[in-house]
Amino acid sequence: MSGAPALLQARRSAGVDPDALGGLLRDLVHEFRPARVQGSVPGHIPHLAAADFRHFGIAVAMVSGEVRTAGDAGEPFLIQSISKVFSLALALGHEDGPALWSRVLREPSGTAFNSLVQLEAERGIPRNPFINAGALVVTDHLLDTFPDASDQVLGLLSGPAGGGAVNTEAFESELARSERNFALAHFLADLGNLRNRPSEVVRHYVRQCSIEMSCADVARAGLFLANDGVGPSGRVVSASAAKRIGAVMLTCGMYDAAGEFAYRVGLPSKSGVGGGILTVVPGVCSICVWSPRLDAHGNSLAGTAALAELADRTGWSIF
Ligand code: GLN
Repeated sequence: MSGAPALLQARRSAGVDPDALGGLLRDLVHEFRPARVQGSVPGHIPHLAAADFRHFGIAVAMVSGEVRTAGDAGEPFLIQSISKVFSLALALGHEDGPALWSRVLREPSGTAFNSLVQLEAERGIPRNPFINAGALVVTDHLLDTFPDASDQVLGLLSGPAGGGAVNTEAFESELARSERNFALAHFLADLGNLRNRPSEVVRHYVRQCSIEMSCADVARAGLFLANDGVGPSGRVVSASAAKRIGAVMLTCGMYDAAGEFAYRVGLPSKSGVGGGILTVVPGVCSICVWSPRLDAHGNSLAGTAALAELADRTGWSIF
């Protein structure tokens, strides 16, 4: 029995040779770049309506500092709900962070990311910070400390290299169609779980969702989650917080498909309806894959399939 941890170590670090990994990523582009229109794009985000179904990019940022990319990994896309990982990290990195957990739970929701029903039934305490209701509470929490909350999230994502920017046109058009997020914010206010004005909270939330970045930038930005809280430009959160954000990603990051995704891929991940997925291999690397067409849960179809293959071929599943 005493040999098991060493064996596991050997299995998980297998395939980390950067050149072999580069070849594997190119294989994935070849295999998973969609050849025909499948799945859907979100109806409430006008900017995403015309997304080209053929896009497919993947990037891996390793804790060693090496980055390998393939396909459209340099194309900017809307990160949407991937931003929720970074707003949570920003909140938990602050001294008021632990107080957040009295306002939002850490349980999978089993419902759609923008569901209203559960929020009312559960008296305004969202199931987790990665569904929209929970992210609105995180944004509200941030606004108590940072009046420029969405700029702070952008700063955390971009780092000193400045790899991201808010797409203003996407932001304005989504804000104009955000009835559901406004409804969630008003419910939260009515049930006593919002301190700032609903309009202000929704504005910052939609703005952080409208950040555009490439797969390579997102993978680099997420590296701290694989590296005990330390990213390319220094410590982002404590090692303990990084571990716990990973746990919430594993159980809640793919909405009501979290169980199925854990079964197929076995890695903490967070998706966005822009078609991106950020995935963490603890101690090894962070991965970002992007392809715009979505499954019924709002997760990238080709991205999920490619991650399942990558996890199989590298042995990177945490299980
Ligand atoms: N901005 C999107 C929304 O609020 C984010 C949802 C997502 O990426 N799952 O609906």
